[in-house]
Amino acid sequence: MAETDPHIHVDRKVAEAGAAVRDVLASTFGLVGDAPAVVTTGCGRRVPYAMTSPRPESVTCLACREHAHREHLRLADQVESLGRAPGSAISADQAARVAERYRDLARRFSG
Ligand SMILES: [Zn+2]
Repeated sequence: MAETDPHIHVDRKVAEAGAAVRDVLASTFGLVGDAPAVVTTGCGRRVPYAMTSPRPESVTCLACREHAHREHLRLADQVESLGRAPGSAISADQAARVAERYRDLARRFSG
C-alpha cells in the first residue's frame, strides 16, 4: 500500500498540523505539537508521516490538495470568529494574522 504510493499527501488535520501554522500558533498561543509516526491523510489513507507535507508545493495528491484548501479556509473563518468572541484569549489583530496565514496556504493549495 504505502510503499507503492508515489504521492505526497497532507495530514487530515493539515490546518492544525502544518508547520507554518504551527509556528504562528506556537508564537501566539505557546502550543507545539509532536509529529505522529502514521497519520490519516486528507484523502482517507493511512501513511507514514514522512509521506505527508504541510507545504503546498510538496503535496502531489490532488484529493489532499482539495482537502487542505477547504480546511485552511474553514480554519481561517474559525480563527476570525475566535478573535471576535468576547473574552477570547487572542485579540482580533492576532486572529486576523493567523487567518491571513491560513488563507495564504489555502490559495497555494488550490493552485
Ligand atoms: Zn492524498
